Amino acid sequence: MKARYQYRFYPTDQQRQSLAQLFGCVRVVWNDALALSKANKFPGYNSLAKSLTLSKKTEERRWLSDVSSVPLQQSLKQLEVAYKNYFDSLKGKRKGKKVGQPRFKKKTNSQSATFMKAAFSIKDGEVYLAKIGNLKPILSRELPSEPSSVTVIKDCANRYFLSFVVEVEPCSKDASYMSVGIDLGIKTFAVMSNGEKQTSPNYSKPERKIRKLQRKLARQQKDSKRRNRTRIQIALANNQISDTRKDFLHKLSTKVVSENKAIILEDLNVSGLIKNRNLAREISLQGWREFRTLIEAKTEKFGRDFRVISRWEPTSQKCSDCGFKWGKIDLSVRSILCLSCGIEHDRDENASKNIEMVGMGHRHDLKCTSRDGKTTPVARPNEA
Ligand SMILES: [Zn+2]
Repeated sequence: MKARYQYRFYPTDQQRQSLAQLFGCVRVVWNDALALSKANKFPGYNSLAKSLTLSKKTEERRWLSDVSSVPLQQSLKQLEVAYKNYFDSLKGKRKGKKVGQPRFKKKTNSQSATFMKAAFSIKDGEVYLAKIGNLKPILSRELPSEPSSVTVIKDCANRYFLSFVVEVEPCSKDASYMSVGIDLGIKTFAVMSNGEKQTSPNYSKPERKIRKLQRKLARQQKDSKRRNRTRIQIALANNQISDTRKDFLHKLSTKVVSENKAIILEDLNVSGLIKNRNLAREISLQGWREFRTLIEAKTEKFGRDFRVISRWEPTSQKCSDCGFKWGKIDLSVRSILCLSCGIEHDRDENASKNIEMVGMGHRHDLKCTSRDGKTTPVARPNEA
């Protein structure tokens, strides 16, 4: 199984310059190849690699020979993958979110360059990259095996990272519980069928900062130095949110996957929902998507069972104890008293129990629902 190990590093001024040159070359190679592919049709990696060799001989692109040729070829390989994903997505062969056409790379986006085995080496905690030199990453944890590639990344906030691809063994720790169903929400990020709840981290401070900076950005002159500074400040605040979120999601997903044999989530139409531009909503939707990806990856790593149930399953419409169906209830109703069995349920906890039951194949379907049975929702105006 492949995994990524990422480390931060601080380049010297000289390295910063060589990296800027390399990123520029990688970007030009990608953009040239993309322009060529858009003009006709995608010609395939081999043909693009040939045109790259030819273009290095021309006056306008001679400087491409000043950097290692490996990341340039990798750029073309990545373009090939991007096109394959796009074509597969068009044909409906790809699961999940629709993949669009590859896009041109901009100087202001995050930059990256990938080195394969022959073009890098690791010795005494230092990473040597061809034509760049020795970099000193902060090795927060050890690499579990020999990496097959390394990608140098510079993000929008000018932070530098080395990201290694390594082979890892799936580990087999015993789970304490058979299964858990998880209901994902906005304020309370996850409610589990065992009664546990996880609140989302509070992002309101960086959120407020971003909104303020975005208003500032809108007033500033295009291509001005001040505007560029604001852009970096926005990127930093966004990083702060995504770092906090990633940390939270990693801890939660590791806990859930190590404790349970089977993990069941509800299939949310996340790509459809994300069109809403509200920042707080966007953050939590992004969180759900990342959470599911992490759970999926970790269930493979721990040898667990990952299940998703249909989003049309009426998990909030029936009692998880007796199976009595009370039908649709408004989102503002947080707590329901089942008149059939007399148990008062927390809305989300009841849903997570139903998610677990449906996922594990236990159903209440045999128990009948009668129209005469009265169910009175106990409305609580404020979300718990
Ligand atoms: Zn009941």
